Amino acid sequence: MTTDDSILIAGGTVIDSSQAIHAKRDVLIEGGRIAAIAESIGRERAKHVIDATGLIVCPGFIDLHCHLREPGGSASETIASGTAAAASGGFTTVFCMPNTNPVCDSHVVVKFILVRAQEAGSIRVVPIAAVTRDQKGEQLADLGALMSAGAGAYSDDGRPVSNAMVMRRALTYAHMLDMPIFDHAEDLSLTADGVMHEGNVSLRLGLKGIPRSSEATIVARDCALSHETGGRLHICHVSNRDSVAAIRHWKDRGAPVTAEVSPHHLTLTDEAVCAGEGYRTSAKMKPPLCSEDDRRSLIEALEDGTIDCIATDHAPHSPPSKDALFQDAPFGILGFESAFAVLYTTFVASGRWKLDFLIEKMTSAPAEVIGAEWGTLRPGSCADVALLRVGEPYVFDEARVKSLSRNSPWLGQSFGGRVVATLAEGRVVFKEEAALCATDPSAGPCGPRPVVIADPTLTRGRVSGT
Ligand SMILES: [Zn+2]
Repeated sequence: MTTDDSILIAGGTVIDSSQAIHAKRDVLIEGGRIAAIAESIGRERAKHVIDATGLIVCPGFIDLHCHLREPGGSASETIASGTAAAASGGFTTVFCMPNTNPVCDSHVVVKFILVRAQEAGSIRVVPIAAVTRDQKGEQLADLGALMSAGAGAYSDDGRPVSNAMVMRRALTYAHMLDMPIFDHAEDLSLTADGVMHEGNVSLRLGLKGIPRSSEATIVARDCALSHETGGRLHICHVSNRDSVAAIRHWKDRGAPVTAEVSPHHLTLTDEAVCAGEGYRTSAKMKPPLCSEDDRRSLIEALEDGTIDCIATDHAPHSPPSKDALFQDAPFGILGFESAFAVLYTTFVASGRWKLDFLIEKMTSAPAEVIGAEWGTLRPGSCADVALLRVGEPYVFDEARVKSLSRNSPWLGQSFGGRVVATLAEGRVVFKEEAALCATDPSAGPCGPRPVVIADPTLTRGRVSGT
């Protein structure tokens, strides 16, 4: 017997680190959940069949750090365009930062984001609420109410929580709620008006530098506060070797600290600022791209577990805003649509990592950081799935970009792997033009997703699978 929404993903190679699977497997989806995973499942068991021969089938990617810009920044991105971009990058869950206008520091804005995400009908969006009111770093936001409204974490990202006592209180409350604080670690007095990493390249270009200590001192401070209070601290976008050393030190001492690193910090250095003609604003972000030595320490930290997972820090800025003098352009670059291609090509195609490792760091590893049940193809779990094609050239051209912005340093470059389809809760939310659905793609699971207004179920800060 088949159900109308049943899909069989047949003939692919399943890679799922949560179950230590790397083998040819068929995957059956029913009612938005994984119903079965086995060497062979009869095609008669599903209404729709996706032929995944030659493809990798893995859990949908989870991004703990992105900016969807809505409310208030819809010239750069909307929740609809951002989730479409995420889906085309293989992401099925994204955590969006609260530095919107207004700031996501009230249950009203949390609900607004959740409703907009449901209307967009693509992937799962988990709002991250502000630590402090209006992200001013002074008074704590109503952390309990924000959690009840559906926030999955707290952060003042875009800005640091500069006052140590405010951060200590926030960690203490967050600990009581069993919620993590996502830390944008930056000492603004050290950043001052710096626009890139302080080093030989900034000296050569005559641009004001940001020293490593701007990040590393706050990482060390906040890890110490986490250790003291028991509050879970997740260090965002770690960029340099001194921050890595601080995280390693405090993790060794048992502090409840986790950390993420971005694709750009793993693959680029400050040299990217002046690659080609002029200074590239698509290589300007916070924290800045650092030296090759820093990049190597980030790779080693991800490999040895000091850094837990990969997060994109997808930060769209409208073309006119980035089309400016380097020192005037805003910080941040796109991330969703290039993440897998860039990381696959740099680390897997080159032989440094197994594909299993990369997939783990984009699926089960971020799920573990947040304590969620996603990032797995285990029967009974949400049918969040990415289909990947590797070993075939792929040009990341502008025509493919679904984000409203274009601020990527990788546009026009060729890569050796890509995402070809994405399913979120058993519905096809992205597929390449060549339709992968064997049956009528305008019907059933491949059609538009119905709008359902519902709160995600959040229990004591642990995000459930629904
Ligand atoms: Zn940040």
